[in-house]
Amino acid sequence: MWRSQSIRLILETFASSRLDGDLEKVWRGIRKLREYRDANGYVYPKISLKGTLFSNTKTELPSIVDVAKSNGVEVFESFQPLNPMKNYVRIYPKEKLQELAVIDEVVQSAHADYDYATSNLQPFREFCQTEGIDLFPTTKANPKFKNCDETWIYSLLSGDVTPCCQIKDPPNRNWNIFKRNIADILDDPDYESLRFNLWNGIFPDYCEGCWKTR
Ligand code: SF4
Repeated sequence: MWRSQSIRLILETFASSRLDGDLEKVWRGIRKLREYRDANGYVYPKISLKGTLFSNTKTELPSIVDVAKSNGVEVFESFQPLNPMKNYVRIYPKEKLQELAVIDEVVQSAHADYDYATSNLQPFREFCQTEGIDLFPTTKANPKFKNCDETWIYSLLSGDVTPCCQIKDPPNRNWNIFKRNIADILDDPDYESLRFNLWNGIFPDYCEGCWKTR
């Protein structure tokens, strides 16, 4: 009984937090992908779980993991609350803004269930080790400043590149993988300068509200 209530809550919450929030459709897509992969003897892609929890679903992570696993998900990455950064806040519907007051509570609750999640799905770190993926190859905390030590490169659908998946407004239209190759973008003095500033705790406006700057 509790399980069907949980699943209904998960489906309803997903539907209310996405423009095309049909979670059953997502599961169908994952199952088809898994079937195709396995039927052809392929190993990749691997399917990983990452998502957002709200105050009403903060204790539902075990149910989400169960239903994800039964639909073919293999790896557990992470769950997060709504993002308090201003470039996210401006696109949230008004009725969701009250969630920003409880983000720490949601994080704590999610973390309390991580053991369950990682004993039922492969932990993301373990997956990366198995695959030889070095998650933080050059990460080094700045001992003097609170800083952002992200070493990622992230591409929006438009091809515009940012150093972080939380940045949705392209900082520089010259950093676009449809116009230049990635090595050129990484060597761009403006890109290097942005990374240098982040590491030294000089955050651009769009970082305001990020947990790394709080
Ligand atoms: S500080 Fe800025 S660049 Fe770093 S993780 Fe946060 S939003 Fe991304």
